[in-house]
Amino acid sequence: MRNLTKRPKPVVLAENEVNWLSDYLSDLSNTTNKYRYRHRDIKSELKIETSDKCVYCESKIGYNTPGDVEHKVPSSVNRNLHFTWNNLTIACTECNRRKNNYFDDTCMFLDPYVDNVESCLEHHGPVVTSRIGNNKAEVTVAILQFCSEDRIALVKRKIAKMQELQHVLERYNSTDQGALREVLLRQLRDMASIRCEYSAMVRSALQLKGYSEVIES
Ligand SMILES: [Zn+2]
Repeated sequence: MRNLTKRPKPVVLAENEVNWLSDYLSDLSNTTNKYRYRHRDIKSELKIETSDKCVYCESKIGYNTPGDVEHKVPSSVNRNLHFTWNNLTIACTECNRRKNNYFDDTCMFLDPYVDNVESCLEHHGPVVTSRIGNNKAEVTVAILQFCSEDRIALVKRKIAKMQELQHVLERYNSTDQGALREVLLRQLRDMASIRCEYSAMVRSALQLKGYSEVIES
């Protein structure tokens, strides 16, 4: 999970959110009204905002899921936030399904747009844990079950990323050709950048191995 910045509200949402909310609240059973937040302009902006990744597990949208528009505060808890831009993000089906309608105002879910999530979580290879004493992180990790047996596809994909990282690092360390080292350094920086899958894990591994200097600030 990476810290994120909210982009400007899409025009289609700014122009329609009041009417859309009114229509939705007037007839909760009407699915056309309910799913207007799935408008392609809204989804497209959310995908730019999250670098085309699930906001929680950092899997690329499209890898195992078309990506679900996610309500940070579930609509079942506050229907008035159903079309509120700051309440919308994007998650893979696996994370979305696990978070489901979780909401507890005494122990909130981690919010990558508000919380410094990068300092709340620890990465041990593909295993994600919360920092001791951080209740938000603990509940988030427990609910999303990043390392559970039924998320083995995610764990395997993260292990493959770690193997790729190790391979690039070995080549980087073993070559004395300046041009090739530069190419490999760019590759390492790219893997650690927010654009790439599981970049929080990659950054953590690079820091642990003593390569902090290759990580983009
Ligand atoms: Zn996910």
